[in-house]
Amino acid sequence: MYNAAMDAIQTSIFDLYQIGPGPSSSHTIGPMCASLAFREMLADRTEGLARTEAIEVVLLGSLSATGKGHGTPEAILAGLLGYAPAEVQPEQIEQLRDPKADLPAMNLAGRSIPLTRETVRFGEILHDHPYSNTMIFRALGGGAVLWEITMYSVGGGFIEYPGQESPGRNAPEFDYTSMATLEAQIESSGLDLAELILRNEQAITGATANEIETHLEKILAVMCDSVSRGLEAEGVLPGPIGLHRKARSLYHRAMSKRNSPQRMLMLNSYALATAEENAAGHIVVTAPTLGACGVLPAALMGMREMMQIDPQQCRDSLLVGAAIGMLAKHNASIAGAEVGCQGEIGVASAMAASMFAWAHDYSPRVVANAAEIALEHHLGMTCDPVAGCVQIPCIERNAMGVVKAYNAFLLASEGDWSSQKITFDQVLATMLATGRDMSSRYKETSAAGLAVNTIEC
Ligand code: SF4
Repeated sequence: MYNAAMDAIQTSIFDLYQIGPGPSSSHTIGPMCASLAFREMLADRTEGLARTEAIEVVLLGSLSATGKGHGTPEAILAGLLGYAPAEVQPEQIEQLRDPKADLPAMNLAGRSIPLTRETVRFGEILHDHPYSNTMIFRALGGGAVLWEITMYSVGGGFIEYPGQESPGRNAPEFDYTSMATLEAQIESSGLDLAELILRNEQAITGATANEIETHLEKILAVMCDSVSRGLEAEGVLPGPIGLHRKARSLYHRAMSKRNSPQRMLMLNSYALATAEENAAGHIVVTAPTLGACGVLPAALMGMREMMQIDPQQCRDSLLVGAAIGMLAKHNASIAGAEVGCQGEIGVASAMAASMFAWAHDYSPRVVANAAEIALEHHLGMTCDPVAGCVQIPCIERNAMGVVKAYNAFLLASEGDWSSQKITFDQVLATMLATGRDMSSRYKETSAAGLAVNTIEC
């Protein structure tokens, strides 16, 4: 039975929207956060620290299968060196990736612990740990393991591990665990959905409305900046595929059109731009993941540039999208390694569809229906990245995700919303069940699908 005190969503919107380097929230940001946490815990263990001579990190599951193409070893090394995702520069990660460059030593309280290319190694893909993306961190000394801890990257940059301290969150002002309970809270409070999520964020984190809005401005700015940079950039993306960027040329073609395809082409080019920046390892925002990071910026640019939605409403629509993402995270999953791409691009598309509906002043029911339609038509979508890189099919999937989001908004807003038979809660339950039934070969392991039926890299 639902227990509000135990189950209410206490995730901060800024846990969902995290700024950091691409290309993957579960394989780059999560591992970097985990190794930073390991570094801090090791520093606190004076006994172990004094005898530590080396560090070993073993990657299991999807991290082992596709970690190389996703930049996981460099992310782990960056965390061990004390870099946090929001502060690290892409060039610093690039240096760690260069096989010819010497690695700096890990400096802990004045002690120097060497790091080598063997510090991070790839372990079994199939294992019995509760999450696919599993990392075992070990402090080694005197030929023995002095201390070890197992951590999990559970999608969207979130990590979990035994003994993890609670982030010290308070109860939300309006507790909800499902779209049904969220709609009930909107109804009884008389608040708009974005206002309700803002009030909850204040209650959960203790931040003021001004502080939250300032942080949202920053998220919006980083998202828009990723589109602008991606529309300027040309050339080949890093990695073995040799994939050329497409956003810039598509954008210029869109600018030359004067009829209805222009809007679709623009949305496509915006999504490609951010997804290409992500693939290049540049700074983007998880929304809800990095693999799917192009969908929301494209929706926001579309609202601002093509739909005359004012900037404040664009910013506040991020609160609405966050509500959808948090429901997906709490009731299903936003990790490709857990439920396939339906949990990444599908959820991002649902978030964007809800934002389109809210920004056009539709009711909470239409907002929920738009999210439901967008996610419903991503059900069953697998994760099969070619060569383990977040490029094919990921980049174009972002473009498809925002176009489907726009169409879901049209279907929800122009149709008879009262005749909608499937709810967002039902489609989330379906996504989770479908993800559980999906073979692990289709969950970010590059062991099936496009990854094995296309080009050899
Ligand atoms: S296929 Fe989808 S879930 Fe898999 S890495 Fe690409 S964007 Fe992420």
